[in-house]
Amino acid sequence: MDESLSYIINELGEERSLYFNSIAPPIIQTSNFAFNKVADLTSVFEDEYSNYLYSRGLNPTVDILRKKLAALDGAEDCLVLNSGASAIFNAVLANVKSGDHIISVNNPYSWAKHLFNKILPRFGVATTYIDGTLLENFEKTIQPSTAIIYLESPNGWGGEIQDLTAVAQLAKKHGIITICDNSFCSPIYQQPIKMGIDIVLQSATKYIGGHSDVVAGVLSGSKEMVKKIFLSEMLCSGNVISPHNAWLLIRGLRTLPMRLERIEKTAKSVRTYLDNHPMVDTVINPFSSKNPQYELAQKQMKGVGGLFSFVINAKNEKEIVTFCESLRHILMAVSWGGHESLIIPCSASLPKGSFEIKNPIHRTLRMYVGLEDEQYLIEDLDQAFNKVLSARK
Ligand SMILES: *Cc1c(COP(=O)(O)O)cnc(C)c1O
Repeated sequence: MDESLSYIINELGEERSLYFNSIAPPIIQTSNFAFNKVADLTSVFEDEYSNYLYSRGLNPTVDILRKKLAALDGAEDCLVLNSGASAIFNAVLANVKSGDHIISVNNPYSWAKHLFNKILPRFGVATTYIDGTLLENFEKTIQPSTAIIYLESPNGWGGEIQDLTAVAQLAKKHGIITICDNSFCSPIYQQPIKMGIDIVLQSATKYIGGHSDVVAGVLSGSKEMVKKIFLSEMLCSGNVISPHNAWLLIRGLRTLPMRLERIEKTAKSVRTYLDNHPMVDTVINPFSSKNPQYELAQKQMKGVGGLFSFVINAKNEKEIVTFCESLRHILMAVSWGGHESLIIPCSASLPKGSFEIKNPIHRTLRMYVGLEDEQYLIEDLDQAFNKVLSARK
């Protein structure tokens, strides 16, 4: 891995002489900070972005993490929040007013969708969903009131991507803010800010934390944008991360590139295994050579990580249930990005009685490959497929 990545992860933001030269940074577990001079207090009251006052705003442990995460994103600054969902909430809310219009890609993260469909309409903000794989769909949908273009590339379930450079250029021409959910790739595999996107956000619960023990989110952008969100939406919503969770994310960052390198390699082998299995119709992944967006994916992403979907060639819903319940090591759970491999069937989220075996979406399973040995995972999948096949006889 390149030198600057090692510098960011191991050194940037850390001032060890301030804390006994300890290698691991301290958790500054405090709610408030004391002042000797009234003038200093006044100046923080005037601009809370400038100094430590109260840990709903700035905190030194969180600041170490902010410096690292902003550098990884190639951004001027970032905020670390108490969830990926709150990163979405703060970034969007800070950039719309009543009467505004949002363009979002189809099927963004579920709570982004909830924000667009259920919350923002109450305040007169409307959202149009488009197929983001075609640039012309953005062009056609822009209105004079369009304030935000909301992207998620790749998308969690379908793996669809957007041409980030082209969309950013189009948005700039119209004075529209672009927001991109980069959870799928993490900054190791994709840096939307460098492609002209205004705000990049991610769930740090996933790869950054990496151990399935922290819920957190990050949003990065220009200093001006980050300060604007900090001084208004973030301080008001109180969505800040705790110093202890920030410390866990700093620890997660130490191994992020090597975890991803391992995950990338294992996931590729698992996808190849699935691609060749008679019980699998399709493996859905931006880096699959059958993907129509393969070239764009290769151009804007350095890797895909461990998340992908596959369509199981099941004869009925019960076979999907049997497959999932037969797995011994791969766990059935939401989320991803940790050490453990996971699976989740789309059918579990369908309204009762609506499953249709002919619909490939209903037969889709989302899989996440973690840090286990590839053979361990392939054998687990194999024995679960065999359970389904032997029940057919
Ligand atoms: C998990 C996830 C989120 C939300 O993050 P939380 O940390 O769970 O709040 C947002 N976007 C994507 C793509 C995710 O996978």
